[in-house]
Amino acid sequence: MKKFLFTLGIASFLWAGCGTVPITGRKQVLLVSDQEVLSSSLSQYSSYVSTAPRSGNASHLAMVTRVGQRIAAATEQYLRANGLESELANFAWEFNLVSDTQANAFCMPGGKIVVYEGLLELIASEDELAVVVGHEVAHAVAKHSNERMSQQMLAEYGAQILGAAVSEKSAAVQNMASQVYGLGAQYGLMLPFSRKHESEADYMGLILMTIAGYNPDVAVDFWQKMSAGGQQVPEFMSTHPSDATRIKDINKELPKIKKNYQK
Ligand SMILES: [Zn+2]
Repeated sequence: MKKFLFTLGIASFLWAGCGTVPITGRKQVLLVSDQEVLSSSLSQYSSYVSTAPRSGNASHLAMVTRVGQRIAAATEQYLRANGLESELANFAWEFNLVSDTQANAFCMPGGKIVVYEGLLELIASEDELAVVVGHEVAHAVAKHSNERMSQQMLAEYGAQILGAAVSEKSAAVQNMASQVYGLGAQYGLMLPFSRKHESEADYMGLILMTIAGYNPDVAVDFWQKMSAGGQQVPEFMSTHPSDATRIKDINKELPKIKKNYQK
């Protein structure tokens, strides 16, 4: 009986620690509460933006804000239309343009979008910027940071983390958060996501940009252009999935996405 109850306890914890990714429906392990993810990412984000050099380019900032707002609105529209209104509380959108020559962009949990000036040098249209912003927002919507923190917690602390007292658990969360965001050590460069997360963010990002009214057809040329140039590897170009696989996947999904989501 004891063993049964123990198993039941673990099972219910694991059940409580499961989530479902919006849009794709993939099941995922989420051991950290939304509140803990938001507070840990917000503190890292705040210290990042307080020191990051802001761009003085008003027209570029206006473009980043415009694209960001449209992707944000599309995200909220999707969540509302699919019975996921409760997820809206996880987003308080912010849009930033940082004066930095790297071709980089990221979106932290909570909807904190940061684009670097260097990325805009390579962008030919707002549709192309929407490819990147859609991809980054998709990581946040899919709670990939939480999933990565959860996987790392299980790897580092093992099953004992499941039964750990709240104080021990939040110490583990702080530790994982600083590893996962990496904003302290490597200024603004998030750790690479897994191949699975990258493919999922590509797919979800295309849907979000299409709902926002952007043209998803530009994605193929955009990734081809990005893979041809540059030695820097920003988050959205982190080596996996390989460029060829990424482009093949996008070509495969595009007709269905346009049919289902294009107005
Ligand atoms: Zn990514």
